[in-house]
Amino acid sequence: MRVRLFLALVAGASLSSPAFTYEPEGASGTRGELTRYTIGMAREGVAHIQIDHTLANGVVYIRHSTAADGTTTDDFISNATISGTHGTAPMEPLGNGGWSTSAAAIGDRVLIEYDLRLGHGDHAWAHGREEIGFKLGDGAFLVSRTTLLADYGDQNSPIEVAFDAEDSAAPWTPIGHNLWRADDLDSFLNNCFTFGSGFGRFIAETEQGNVTFIHDEASTDLAKQAARDIAPALQHITAIFGSFPASNFHIFLFENDHPEGGAYDDSFAMLHPVPAQQVDALLWRQGFIHEINHLWVGHAIRPANQADIEWFKEGVADYLAIKTMWKLGYLEDHTLEGKLANLMRRHTLGVFMSRGQVGLTEAGANKSENMMIIYGSGATWSFMLDVEMAAHQGPGAFERMLRDLYEHSEKPYTQARLMERINVTSNGAAGRLLAQFERNLMPMAFPAMLEPYGMELAFMIPDMFELDLNPRRLTGVDRLPAFLRDAE
Ligand SMILES: [Zn+2]
Repeated sequence: MRVRLFLALVAGASLSSPAFTYEPEGASGTRGELTRYTIGMAREGVAHIQIDHTLANGVVYIRHSTAADGTTTDDFISNATISGTHGTAPMEPLGNGGWSTSAAAIGDRVLIEYDLRLGHGDHAWAHGREEIGFKLGDGAFLVSRTTLLADYGDQNSPIEVAFDAEDSAAPWTPIGHNLWRADDLDSFLNNCFTFGSGFGRFIAETEQGNVTFIHDEASTDLAKQAARDIAPALQHITAIFGSFPASNFHIFLFENDHPEGGAYDDSFAMLHPVPAQQVDALLWRQGFIHEINHLWVGHAIRPANQADIEWFKEGVADYLAIKTMWKLGYLEDHTLEGKLANLMRRHTLGVFMSRGQVGLTEAGANKSENMMIIYGSGATWSFMLDVEMAAHQGPGAFERMLRDLYEHSEKPYTQARLMERINVTSNGAAGRLLAQFERNLMPMAFPAMLEPYGMELAFMIPDMFELDLNPRRLTGVDRLPAFLRDAE
C-alpha cells in the first residue's frame, strides 16, 4: 500500500501562531463582526464561558435535550448574565434551550457569561453520552451545540475561541496558543473539543491531511491502533466519494463502559470500553469506520430536517463500514457473511419490536426508540441495493450512486430529493426497495431477493440467520458476488 503513515507525538501545545487579522464582510448590522468565546475552568467540575458578541437576536440558544431522568441541557447552566451599556442583568431560561437577551437591544455589543457544570456524563441522554460535555481528569470534553449558548441570528460572522486553560484541542483553524477560529456559526457549533490538561495527543499524517487524535490515558493503545487504521480507511472511503470533506480533522477517544459515538463536521468522538480481546477490537473498528463514514454520509450528505433521512445516514454508514472492513482485509469471508446476516437479523427484530407499526422513514422521528429499524433496516436496504445495482450495472455502481449524492450535496437533502437522485442512478431500484422496507418487509422475502445473485440465505424466525455468499464454491467455482468485486 502506497500510504504514508507518520506518527508524531506532539508535546504540549505546539501549534503555530501566525499573525491574524479579520476582514469583516460588510459593515452593516452584525454581519462580519467578530464573536469571541472565552472558555476556562471556574472551579472543580465547572467551566466558565464568556461570549463577547454583537446581538442579532433577542434569544441565544443551546440545543435542547432531555435526559431519561428529566434533566435538560439548560440545567447545567447557572449564573447567566448579560452585560452592556445597560449594566449587568441576569438571564433566565425560556425552557426550550433559549435564554432571553432582552435586557440588551439588538445591535448592542454585549458580554454574556455563565457557569457550565460538567456533569452531563452522569445522565442517560437520548442521543448518547458523547453528545454533550463532561469533565475528564483536569480538563473537559465539550460538544459545542449542546453546551455553548449561541446567537442563531448571526450565522456568518467569524468566531474566535480562546481557552483560558493549559491546553486545548479543536478542529477549527488554529490562530495562536489556545486560540482558534471558526469561519461561521455552523462549523463552530457542529464540532467537539477538549481543554485543560491530562489528554494525550498525536498526529497521524494521511494523504487527506493531518488527523489529530486526542485521548485519555486508558485509551492510549487504542489511539495508536486507530492512528494505524486511519490512513487506509480514509484512502479507501475518499476514493469512493472523490474528495475529503473535513479540514483539521480531530478524533477524540475516551474510555467508557457505554460505547457511544458522535460525529460532527470536522471531528468525531468515541466513548468505548478499551478492547481487551480480539473480538472487542473487531467491534471497535466497525464503530470507528462508521464514524469516519459520517463525514460524507451525515455531514456532507446531510438532512434538511433533523429526522429526515436518518435511516439512510445510519444504514449506509453501518453497511459501508462492514464492506470497508472486508475490502481492507480486516474481515474473513465467513465473518463478513455473519455481519451481513446480522443486518437482516436486526431488521427483523426491529419489525417485531415495533409490531410492524413503524416504517423505515418515520423511524427517524424517534431515533432512540427505533434503533433496530434505523440501523438494521437501513443497512439491510443498503446491502440489498448494492447487490442489485452491482449485478445489473457492474461492481461499484452502489458506490457511484453515493458519490453522485456527495457531488450534489451543496444543499441538504430532504427524503424526496434524496430518493429522486438515487432513483435516477439506480434505475428505480432504490425506490422499489424502500417501498418494500416501508411496508415492514419480513425475512421470508430475503432468500428470493438474494438467490438470483448467487447467494443463499437460511433463517428461523425471528432471529436466526445464515448467509452464504458463494454457494458455488462447494463445486469448485470460486467467484465472488458482483457487489464484492472491484469496479472495472
Ligand atoms: Zn452513526
